[in-house]
Amino acid sequence: MPKPSRESRCIICGLPKDGLEVKEDYVINFIRLFKRNVTKNEKGYRLVVCKDCYPKYAKQRKRFDTRRATYIALGVIFTALFLVVSPNKLAALAYGVLITLFLYLLSLVNYVPALNIPQIQGQHGSNEASASPSKPPTRESPSAHGKQNA
Ligand SMILES: [Zn+2]
Repeated sequence: MPKPSRESRCIICGLPKDGLEVKEDYVINFIRLFKRNVTKNEKGYRLVVCKDCYPKYAKQRKRFDTRRATYIALGVIFTALFLVVSPNKLAALAYGVLITLFLYLLSLVNYVPALNIPQIQGQHGSNEASASPSKPPTRESPSAHGKQNA
């Protein structure tokens, strides 16, 4: 039985579907580490976003990006305010950094990971990934085509 070594799982609908692979960044790695060592329920799925869920994913990802940017901006504004009003600049800075960090972590609660968009060239082709029709290069001059509307 040719079984893939890692089952893929859509992060939106949770179904074992194939799709665009999720980028394994530090948040994903942290979640995996946490599951492996603390909750002991690491599934080891290949995380993907299936074609059906992509529009939904794109919307969620955009919202997440906006929220994260807003939270970080808030943290920076808080830090600046502390620096202005506090007589102890060092404490104000430390406080500001802490709050920014806290806001950033808060924005990760509904984490929506980035996708691994494969490079067009030099891609090590997997079996069904390329659906592009392999057309042999044909001689095609622009004037050779039939209708020319002037
Ligand atoms: Zn899905």
